[in-house]
Amino acid sequence: MEKTEGEVLKEKLFNNRRNGWEDLSEEERKEVFKFADEYMFYLNQAKTEKEIVTTSKDILLKNNFKDLKEVDSLNPGDKVFWVNRGRALYMAVIGSEKMENGLNIVAAHGDSPRIDLKQNPLYEDNEFGLLKTHYYGGIRKYQWTTIPLSMHGVIAKPNGERINVSVGESEGDPVFYITDLPPHLSRAQDTRKLSEGVEGEELNIVAGSIPYDDKKISEKVKLNILRILNEKYGIKEIDFTSSEIEFVPAFKAKSVGFDESLIGAYGQDDKVCCYASLRAMLEVNNPTKTAICVLTDKEEIGFVGVTGMESRSFERFIVELLEKNGESYPNNIEKTFSNSRVISADVDAGYDPTFSSAFENYNAARLGYGVCICKYTGARGKSSASEAPAEFVADLRRIYDENNVKYVSSELGRVDKGGGGTIALTFANRGMEVVDCGVPVISMHSPYELTSKVDVYNAFKAYRGFLK
Ligand code: MN
Ligand code: MN
Repeated sequence: MEKTEGEVLKEKLFNNRRNGWEDLSEEERKEVFKFADEYMFYLNQAKTEKEIVTTSKDILLKNNFKDLKEVDSLNPGDKVFWVNRGRALYMAVIGSEKMENGLNIVAAHGDSPRIDLKQNPLYEDNEFGLLKTHYYGGIRKYQWTTIPLSMHGVIAKPNGERINVSVGESEGDPVFYITDLPPHLSRAQDTRKLSEGVEGEELNIVAGSIPYDDKKISEKVKLNILRILNEKYGIKEIDFTSSEIEFVPAFKAKSVGFDESLIGAYGQDDKVCCYASLRAMLEVNNPTKTAICVLTDKEEIGFVGVTGMESRSFERFIVELLEKNGESYPNNIEKTFSNSRVISADVDAGYDPTFSSAFENYNAARLGYGVCICKYTGARGKSSASEAPAEFVADLRRIYDENNVKYVSSELGRVDKGGGGTIALTFANRGMEVVDCGVPVISMHSPYELTSKVDVYNAFKAYRGFLK
């Protein structure tokens, strides 16, 4: 059957977006599933920003990356990394061109919304040992009750000792728990607004219930918990003062659906882009422009802190690269930055058919359609958006077309429904062109987020194409 004139014209002129699964060859489909398995393995090792750094560093060491601190001078093709206080990781593959001609940077964040312990957490109430918490990042608090939680973190002691803790991930480990009322008794709570259904000070973690066996003392359950912690880690109550202890869902990453097309896991915002960009970096060999990958911390609370993207710690890394690459002259970092281009690799809100009224059909990030290019984020009238220049987006389209990357253009939900921002701002402040491009996620910031395997694989191909 010959195509009509209209059919031919439509094919030529329309933006014909197609579901990414439909265009896969049998071989590519296998690749997509294999990559997803490897990603899920990574997620199960790395649930916090610190574990993202240690797990990723191990992968880098196995792939010929060296610690920049142990390298005196750099040559084209060299692969190096730099750890910022165990919480952020920067990597580089040195290009054949001078760095001052510009860097290609992909930046993702390893931190995810979670429940942190307060610095005086442990108390006893009615013979329950409980822990006071302070949530980190934007969570819908009611979602974090009645699920198994695991504990991850570090306790630093004045004598310089640093104790890593991890409970609840291994087979046989206990887990932790935040309670909620049964429906039989929730009549008063049910009249609260959903956003106040469970309040911040109600996110108390159950940590034990056996009293220490001594009739003469009070707070026996608390004492028994401290005894266990002292035996296991050598700590006392005051050591919580200098600790960072994070509670995250104890769930493992799993395939979702009869066809196993989706991934359910905690922390995919933004560990999905961490993994895709890390894997892309491993395949960058002898690039023209120096390729940089950043796995930053503190994105979820505003890019702040010494390990966040606003910190000049990133400049320290670039200066070190310039020095060791023989390009150390006054103001060269400004020149390097102004010639650089960045993909802010972060997730977008995936279209959810059950809650379709939050989205605008024509510009929604649909799962299965590849990576989403988000030209701007922000709220209301693009407030606080770091809008990417059209010319840069055009060049990204060229790169994606050349590398057979599936992509769509998207924005974060309906206008005036809400909004958000990314670390794109911090790179723009440094004089770099930057665009947001990542994987769509359904139920973002919940304890168990949903992505599509075909999108995760396309993110990897997108970042690889850009960095190469
Ligand atoms: Mn994010
Ligand atoms: Mn987020």
